[in-house]
Amino acid sequence: MTRVFNFSAGPAALPEEVLSQAAAEMLDWHGSGMSVMEMSHRGKEFTSIIEQALADVRELMQVPAGYQVLFMQGGGLGENAIVPLNLLGRNNKVDIVETGSWSAKSRAEAARYGDLHLAASGLRAEAKQGKYTSIPAVADWRVRSDAAYLHICGNETIDGVEFFDFPDMAALGAPDVPLVVDVSSHILSRPLDVSKCGLLFGGAQKNIGPAGLTLVIVRDDLLDQAHALCPSAFNYKLVAANGSMYNTPPTYSIYIAGLVFQWLKRQGGVAAMAERNAAKASLLYDALDQSELYITHVEHACRSRMNVPFFLRDESLNEAFLAGAKARGLLQLKGHKSVGGMRASLYNAMPLAGVQALVDYLKEFEKSHG
Ligand SMILES: *Cc1c(COP(=O)(O)O)cnc(C)c1O
Repeated sequence: MTRVFNFSAGPAALPEEVLSQAAAEMLDWHGSGMSVMEMSHRGKEFTSIIEQALADVRELMQVPAGYQVLFMQGGGLGENAIVPLNLLGRNNKVDIVETGSWSAKSRAEAARYGDLHLAASGLRAEAKQGKYTSIPAVADWRVRSDAAYLHICGNETIDGVEFFDFPDMAALGAPDVPLVVDVSSHILSRPLDVSKCGLLFGGAQKNIGPAGLTLVIVRDDLLDQAHALCPSAFNYKLVAANGSMYNTPPTYSIYIAGLVFQWLKRQGGVAAMAERNAAKASLLYDALDQSELYITHVEHACRSRMNVPFFLRDESLNEAFLAGAKARGLLQLKGHKSVGGMRASLYNAMPLAGVQALVDYLKEFEKSHG
């Protein structure tokens, strides 16, 4: 068996320990004589799995009292509709800050449901490379003080722009406006201040586990604002009241996510991951900054630690670069089609050794082609 270093943006690499454990438990989970995939979601075995997983999210993310942790389906894109359907029932004003491709998608979807106001945008429409490279200064955001919520994307997976601090709504002149954050691609990569948010959501397939599971953390006072046409299965209040089992949850994805949570706890939790992820990211950014061949566009202060887009100055070398990487077991480095170039995703399961192997290759390729 050979395992590669998988730099995919998602679905992404999982810890090997977790995959081995899942393999060992595949046919017979803890003497039940069944695979987790085959269990009733209402039975005592699966109930113990989901309860532990929900408790581990609370512990790992230090979710304060007064918030619900929900396991749902629909993914990040689904939440772009599910959030407005749950929050715009009484007041249909939605504000958004656009810092990349994902918040742009959220903006377009929210506009189908509400009266949308763009509070700030980092778009550089004229740029050929690097359409989103910064977070607009918070002092320049124009948030409506009576908006139902303000949406931001915590980490722009495609463009590589990350918020290292969530904005303070009172300082924005909108103390009563709940902050909604799409944390799909940096959840559990470092401590995130849940108390600053009304709601956080993320698909699991970037930094948690298999696709199919979506995590939502929502403050209790936001459970009562759903639009009359919000589908019951996506209604946060109903999902919360039923312990994330209003309908059949994605049981196997929850089980694997639960193994990842246990793995994270053994690693020292999100504080330990934050240190490791910072070290991995600076190893790669330093190598890119020191080179003459590679270039990055994102402002240093908001460079993502999870997703690192970079370009070869001579783009005619792209194919040769990717072929050489593949030959060394460094996979999925091609950039998103909307951005081009390269992208290395460095989620929790990517070891420092993988980043070191990539950096060694970057230098070697530059020597032979620079
Ligand atoms: C991947 C991603 C999404 C979309 O997730 P799906 O599960 O494919 O719907 C949304 N937001 C961000 C930040 C993402 O990285």
